[in-house]
Amino acid sequence: MDLITVNDVSKTYGEKESQVHALNRITLQIKKNDFVALLGPSGSGKSTLLNVISGLERADAGEIYFAKENITRYKDKQLVQFRRQYTGYIFQQYHLIPNLTVQENIEIGKYLNADSLDLDEITKELNIQHLKKRFPYELSGGQQQRVAIARALIKKPEILFCDEATGALDEENGKQVLSYLQHLQRKYGLTIVFVTHHVGIAKMARHIIKLNSGRLVDQIMNDQPLTAE
Ligand code: ADP
Ligand code: ADP
Repeated sequence: MDLITVNDVSKTYGEKESQVHALNRITLQIKKNDFVALLGPSGSGKSTLLNVISGLERADAGEIYFAKENITRYKDKQLVQFRRQYTGYIFQQYHLIPNLTVQENIEIGKYLNADSLDLDEITKELNIQHLKKRFPYELSGGQQQRVAIARALIKKPEILFCDEATGALDEENGKQVLSYLQHLQRKYGLTIVFVTHHVGIAKMARHIIKLNSGRLVDQIMNDQPLTAE
């Protein structure tokens, strides 16, 4: 089943001479429970695509469907509601709140969702259970990253979006983070879409979407995704 359908979507920034076609007539589908990489060089439109699919930004043209819902028609309030109910988002800079502990940071992710995952379960899953009382500045980059993942996951989103979740880390750590995501995706039947500019990291995905200069240039269905041991 297609969870997301992107139909002829474009987005332009700026005016006249300084216009940038961040997305140029993108059409694609993302299947439910899939593990998807958006791959391309810097400036190719990966973040913009992630942001319009996740309802964080609006496209200028085209439609985006989440299941059968046309989210491009949503009013701002409906879009916020959609994001709260169905989506988790991990930002490039983890955006942890500095004066809250790890546990408090993660619990923010619950919002009002009664059906959220158990804190102990999710912290064990990400191997941060021993860090719950620490503050973000007492953690390594990889640990902060895992706290950000736990915060996004605790409300059991239908789909998890990761903007260059691996960008701030070296390739080795990046693969480690991706292998956590791969495991969580399988365990909870999540749909995950992540952005990367590393070909090696993209190979961990099952569906690879290649972008260049705002255009979709290739899609690969990868039947044997790499796993980091
Ligand atoms: P990527 O994530 O692949 O690095 P982006 O989606 O961030 O690419 O950017 C695509 C293009 O759109 C780039 O040329 C970038 O400079 C431009 N762009 C992105 N966001 C903005 C913005 N808020 N204002 C102006 N230009 C932007
Ligand atoms: P708020 O819900 O505090 O008004 P927004 O409306 O900007 O914040 O955020 C809406 C959605 O964006 C959230 O439900 C969540 O999916 C995502 N989001 C925003 N901030 C974060 C964050 N720090 N960590 C994870 N997801 C976030």
